[in-house]
Amino acid sequence: MTRIGFVGLGNMGGPMARNLVAAGHEVRVFDLVAAAMEGVGGAAPQASAAACVDGVDVFISMLPAGRHVESLYLGDDGIVAQADASTLLIDCSTIDPDTARRVAQAAADRGIAMLDAPVSGGTAGAEAGTLTFMVGGDTAAVERARPVLDVMAKNVFHAGGAGAGQTAKICNNMLLAVHMAGTAEALALGVNNGLDPAVLSEIMKQSSGGNWSLNVYNPFPGVMDGVPASRGYQGGFLVDLMTKDLGLAMASAEASGSAVPLGSLARNLFRLHGQVNDAGRLDFSSIQRFYKPDLD
Ligand code: NAD
Repeated sequence: MTRIGFVGLGNMGGPMARNLVAAGHEVRVFDLVAAAMEGVGGAAPQASAAACVDGVDVFISMLPAGRHVESLYLGDDGIVAQADASTLLIDCSTIDPDTARRVAQAAADRGIAMLDAPVSGGTAGAEAGTLTFMVGGDTAAVERARPVLDVMAKNVFHAGGAGAGQTAKICNNMLLAVHMAGTAEALALGVNNGLDPAVLSEIMKQSSGGNWSLNVYNPFPGVMDGVPASRGYQGGFLVDLMTKDLGLAMASAEASGSAVPLGSLARNLFRLHGQVNDAGRLDFSSIQRFYKPDLD
């Protein structure tokens, strides 16, 4: 049994914390939204993030963006200042690698080990405990984290030093945006030319166009059960968060002099979709509506 503090109980953090409780760990939780804490039965709700880090073995955060992570960890009352040197800090949010490195360095300056450990697998993976973790930090800290991450994971990859997990995640999500947009485009083309989207999906899954979006996250309503497309694009991974991640990819491309024309196009598609269709709070597979505005 490990004593764990968990801050940020949204679409991802909520089910992740629930799995840690179910595995028998002692879990303290905090979220700015009180109802989110009540959603993690068996955990101990706290009045502040600082109360979550007091005396725990592992502290985990799952927040929207870099500015939230920076304000949680740094500063006079931040987690880095409050944590004991024996506590392992793990940030699972998807943020820019520079912020991840800056926060990890501030922790290291106080003798505290910290990992960036963003995830892939979506809300379904968070519920099922089958996420993929992409971890940046020291090997020894990664090995300490592994038994706790394993409860929530199908795969735990050590990508490299501090910030490397974030870089891996940014690359993955840029590719995800490109193949989701491409999948929606191909399905719209087929349907506009008289094909049944379910039949076309099955053909492409078994052909050279097969990809993750087709296999497990079909964007066309009615083709696949249990995915956001079949519940009005509610829940899942928000267009706003995908647009944020593509912004991180653009910043990494700029910093490294990398050409990312498809990533750049995908970023503009998702941004326009969010603005024109008021879709920022919808799942990112709603990009299908960008191609077929007549859809429900
Ligand atoms: P979310 O908006 O549903 O949840 C974020 C939670 O953090 C909210 O409950 C919010 O109240 C809380 N919060 C914000 N600031 C806080 C603070 N200072 N103290 C305490 N709580 C605070 O977001 P999400 O979908 O759970 O995503 C979280 C992270 O995971 C993001 O970085 C996202 O990019 C990444 N991610 C999401 C998915 C997905 O499918 N949703 C998949 C992979 C990665």
